[in-house]
Amino acid sequence: MRTIYLDNNATTAVAPEVRAAMEPYFDGEFFNPSSAYDRASSAAQAIKRARAAVAGFLGGVDPSEILFTSCATESLNTALYGAVRANPARRHVITTAVEHPAVYEVCKDLARSGLEVTFLPVDRAGRLDLRAFIQALRPDTLLAAIMHANNETGVIFPVEELARIAKETDPAVLFLTDATQTAGKLPLALRGAMRHVDLLAFSGHKLHAPKGVGALFVRRGTPIRPFMIGGHQEGGRRAGTENVPYIVGLARAVELAQEDHDAVEVRIRRLRDRLEAGLLERIPCVEVNGQGAARIPNTCNISVHFIEGEGMLYQLNAQGICASSGSACTSGSLEPSHVLRAMGVPFTAVHGSVRLSLSRYNTDEDVDRALEVFPQVVANLRRLSPYWDTAHDRPRPESEAMMRESVAEKP
Ligand code: PLP
Repeated sequence: MRTIYLDNNATTAVAPEVRAAMEPYFDGEFFNPSSAYDRASSAAQAIKRARAAVAGFLGGVDPSEILFTSCATESLNTALYGAVRANPARRHVITTAVEHPAVYEVCKDLARSGLEVTFLPVDRAGRLDLRAFIQALRPDTLLAAIMHANNETGVIFPVEELARIAKETDPAVLFLTDATQTAGKLPLALRGAMRHVDLLAFSGHKLHAPKGVGALFVRRGTPIRPFMIGGHQEGGRRAGTENVPYIVGLARAVELAQEDHDAVEVRIRRLRDRLEAGLLERIPCVEVNGQGAARIPNTCNISVHFIEGEGMLYQLNAQGICASSGSACTSGSLEPSHVLRAMGVPFTAVHGSVRLSLSRYNTDEDVDRALEVFPQVVANLRRLSPYWDTAHDRPRPESEAMMRESVAEKP
């Protein structure tokens, strides 16, 4: 059975071009880039070229503003804890109720350690209210951590504008954005529209580099204390021998993302839109989470009422289709998604949510197959559901009332 991979927000396949670029650094050029002998200089040079490539990808920032890390989680932890440790006089952090756990859980940890954290709410479409952000800014606000696009719904936040507002209110407020789901999809113009962003994080494995490498942009002059302490690597800001092949792979991946960006984006958006419209047409009582908001082009998050997301995933899996019922990190538990709950998605709909996310490697045949299998899976599960009237292919009247009443609790 052919595997149809529709879970690219969890991770992506390593591009053959990326793997080829990495290859020499496992074997002939395996040296430690800090070693003094001539043979090691190719590894040091490779890191230098990679840093320049990532700096170019981020809109032509200075290469010294790029730190290589092991993943977005490390980049985000470094930025958050590093900023807090460097600025003890400021005790307030602003974030959103829908961040990835790599920010959300850190902010909860900061709150436990005595900082005040404002979790900004979102509306039913997952959008932030700019006025709420402005009202949240205080004289002791240290940092705002606002994601660029949500990993579950694909909803985009206007970080360019939010960062500008933060700086105009108080130039000392730091602005961090988690660009893990937008790197390679949206422009990251840190010298242009994003010039007010101080810190930006992403992971290689969401854009066809391997798992185990990420980057953190730290604008020059941004006060943060190092998180990893030890050797002098990364200018003393992130100790530990550099992962040369993976850093080279990350650089090749960002180049690849830029080479054919527009054509790939148009194709992915067309596939996603066809998939989404096809599911809405073929399955009754389905809604798109994030509908009406600006979204990244590859993500479709739908709630199928009256059945469990886990059951759908299980049956899709049996047909070779890989999807997810929330962020990969939380899918091990049956905890309802904090993102959909914050959006006010009714409880039953949160439990019936599935995320389908595409990449440059998906095809029209993948979408055809998903459109063939998904409605069958839903029909099979609804046949077993006490809330569904199989004879009329609609909810039983009493279930509809129940659905309207079961509004999610706010976190
Ligand atoms: N931020 C977002 C928005 C993500 O989607 C993810 C991963 O799913 C992360 C951070 C964490 O990335 P990593 O697991 O590579 O550290």
